Amino acid sequence: MSIAQDQVVSIHYTLKNDAGEVLDSSAGGEPLTYLHGHGQLIPGLERELAGKNVGDKLAVTIPPADAYGDYDKALVQRVPRRALRGVQQVRVGMQLQAQTEHGARTVTVTQLTGDMVTLDGNHPLAGQSLNFEVEVKEARQATAEELAHGHAHGPGDHHHH
Ligand code: ZN
Repeated sequence: MSIAQDQVVSIHYTLKNDAGEVLDSSAGGEPLTYLHGHGQLIPGLERELAGKNVGDKLAVTIPPADAYGDYDKALVQRVPRRALRGVQQVRVGMQLQAQTEHGARTVTVTQLTGDMVTLDGNHPLAGQSLNFEVEVKEARQATAEELAHGHAHGPGDHHHH
């Protein structure tokens, strides 16, 4: 069965940046299972997987525009440390939920200078090309319940929400 809209697809994958560093991988664990055509993967990877078959292996490079977007300097802001009320120990690399003019957003602390904290609202992988090695392990039609929920269910995964 080749991968198309509304199929539940399982893949093993390894994600590397352009320096060849492994950023994420399903190797040695459970494959990633997702509902195809519902925006659960980055758009570029979902597009590459369409039409592939179980057993297919692919190596693809996804440009930032089809992954986590270009890096946007406008999403970087500096705030006084006192603006982060309730955060005990502010550290570089820490991720926080912040209210912005675009709604709630995850921001990463990227710099601490004196009393100022730099918050970066870009996705950590924004601006990066992503190199995926993927093997398609399984593909099946989604059940009516999965389609109603908009996500894949694992074996014996009975829930209500
Ligand atoms: Zn569900």
